[in-house]
Amino acid sequence: MSGTESGERDHGSLVGELDESTNGQAPAAVDLSRIERAVREILAAVGEDPDREGLLETPARVARMYAEMFTGLREDPRRHLKKFFIEKYDEVVLVKDISFNSVCEHHLLPFMGVAHIGYLPNGRVIGLSKLARVVEVVSRRPQVQERMTETIADLLVSELDAKGVAVVVEATHTCMTIRGIRRPGSLCVTSAMRGIFRSHLSSRSEVMTLIYGGKR
Ligand SMILES: [Zn+2]
Repeated sequence: MSGTESGERDHGSLVGELDESTNGQAPAAVDLSRIERAVREILAAVGEDPDREGLLETPARVARMYAEMFTGLREDPRRHLKKFFIEKYDEVVLVKDISFNSVCEHHLLPFMGVAHIGYLPNGRVIGLSKLARVVEVVSRRPQVQERMTETIADLLVSELDAKGVAVVVEATHTCMTIRGIRRPGSLCVTSAMRGIFRSHLSSRSEVMTLIYGGKR
């Protein structure tokens, strides 16, 4: 079946619905056949034969993979922060080791690791799993780790009105481990501090101790 130019296929292969909560601001649905054509081009450009047996299904497979890896482009992470509870809890809420996989926007190579999120509520508390949902949505976009870290922190500030937010992301970038300077095992750590964790050194030390307690 394969071997036909992907450009000849019908154009019914768009996937991904606009998330209702994004009010149409999200990018258009993923154009699978366009990715397929591009992947064929890349294979040809590196000197491969896109029509050899082992590569026949590759463009379609890669297209579906990109659609999956970039679902966060068509989703608004704020929707996971809309259902909060009103609680008179004024201690730090911390979720550690939220694992994620993302894609570095400079090389389109994966980077993966964990996020630690702490916040000091201002009356609004959300279910702990929602923090993982937010990380999931934000990471499933072409990303840089620094922006991903800040995006998560700013979302918690704006949606929960938290008194303080601390986000620490630790990740391994395959663009550093398999190419370029090739440093396997190197870990990139970024942090974003908001509110009291930014303005008060003692509060920041406290949340960092909570995050790294017993670890280092
Ligand atoms: Zn990179």
